[in-house]
Amino acid sequence: MFTNTRFKSWNLPDNLHQGLDSLGWEFATQVQKDTIPLARKGLDLIGQARTGSGKTAAFGIPIIESCKPNGNLQALILAPTRELASQVSEELNLIQGDSGLVIMTVYGGTDLEKQARKLQDGVDIIVGTPGRVMDMTKREFIKMDSPTIFCLDEADRMLDMGFFPDITWIIERMSNRDQTLLFSATFPQEIIDAANEFMKEPEFILTSSEELDIPPIDMYSVSVGRANKLWALSRLLLRMSEDDQTIIFCNTKRMVDLATQRLKKKEFMVEGLHGDLSQNQRERLLERYKSGEIRTIIATDVAARGIDVDGITLVINYDIPNDIDSFIHRVGRTGRIGRSGEAWSLVSKDDSAQLSKIIATYNLDIVESKIPELGENQDEVINHQEDFQETSNVFGFITLELDASGKSLGSSREIMNWFVSKIRCDELAVGDIYFEDSTTKVEIHSSKIGLAIKALEKHEMNGLKVNTSIVN
Ligand code: ADP
Ligand code: MG
Repeated sequence: MFTNTRFKSWNLPDNLHQGLDSLGWEFATQVQKDTIPLARKGLDLIGQARTGSGKTAAFGIPIIESCKPNGNLQALILAPTRELASQVSEELNLIQGDSGLVIMTVYGGTDLEKQARKLQDGVDIIVGTPGRVMDMTKREFIKMDSPTIFCLDEADRMLDMGFFPDITWIIERMSNRDQTLLFSATFPQEIIDAANEFMKEPEFILTSSEELDIPPIDMYSVSVGRANKLWALSRLLLRMSEDDQTIIFCNTKRMVDLATQRLKKKEFMVEGLHGDLSQNQRERLLERYKSGEIRTIIATDVAARGIDVDGITLVINYDIPNDIDSFIHRVGRTGRIGRSGEAWSLVSKDDSAQLSKIIATYNLDIVESKIPELGENQDEVINHQEDFQETSNVFGFITLELDASGKSLGSSREIMNWFVSKIRCDELAVGDIYFEDSTTKVEIHSSKIGLAIKALEKHEMNGLKVNTSIVN
């Protein structure tokens, strides 16, 4: 991430040098090296670099250099959250050394009057969240025609649907804005389009601190709970054609073993590859894979490192990797040397946040898709099962709708007692009970839901036959 460019080689003001020295920073990071010289020239720019690559100082250093400690607002920096705004402002304060600039954070949830008084004492740089900055502007504590530099940290979030109106509102009032800096880890095209409307011929700096080339392949994700991942996998494998070669990634050795065993039982030709195999076994397996004798292997990340097989056309993420870079390394197994390839990710409810993070970090284009249907003359090999975990809420409850043709099934207490006695569960397994649209809604813990549905099929409640469905 660091370059061999020393901050000392730039003729920055002494105070800044001393600030950087006190932080112990000697070398600029890649994004700093790429953007700071352009920003110092007063150009508009869009800087994209990964999380943790030093973007704060990339805009902080040139902004501090441009500002004078005269109590007039010269730069406005916006961030999406309070935490980020305070982080940025803390870092700028460290970097500025003895420059004497008043850098103030302006965000909601703090005493507005107090903030207002401080603003009136004079401020050179504001780091804030859009809401409070707007509020302070409306109350005339911030004069929007004063700052000439405008900067958005986490710009992709600042310019998405949620914040965009606020940002527009602010920009419209910044009548003396003459430099705009946007920084973020990702820049979807819509965001660049939006930014172009208020920037003047911005320089676009894309920094990849590590060479992680995203291969030109088609990526898909499918929502599927743990209980049905093998089913989904079987569908994907059935869809393989004669000359496809597939690698399936699991996060653990155990999962590799389990999946390999189950699939072998179902007559799939697969082999598992992980670190518990001897060097010899691994090499032989890879030989057979390279020669095309084995078409599908199931592997952990570690074991698959270094596999360099040109024919791989399909990568399947049975699990979403815990480590973000692994995703790129995994999907990079296919689509080599201009070949076409596909990568499919099986995403359970628990995986989805991690996948979103990966998508955001690399700005990936992953198409949400359905599990492929069976082909003609193909039979299901692994059956789909009910997966209550996947439909449950964060507390593990699933809502059932009980319908007795509009008739009352009794009081909440009576309904609760019915479940407790019929499925012999603790009262805690029954959550909220409420009445809506002439039906009764009951939350049942996912561990008891199967029993509850059976009980409702078998027994009447309050002398009534009940129709049951799961509310999604
Ligand atoms: P980003 O905004 O790109 O996610 P940050 O600006 O938060 O990254 O920087 C990540 C970390 O690197 C911070 O702890 C920051 O203080 C440190 N850092 C930034 N630039 C340098 C540098 N040139 N030398 C040493 N540490 C740096
Ligand atoms: Mg940052």
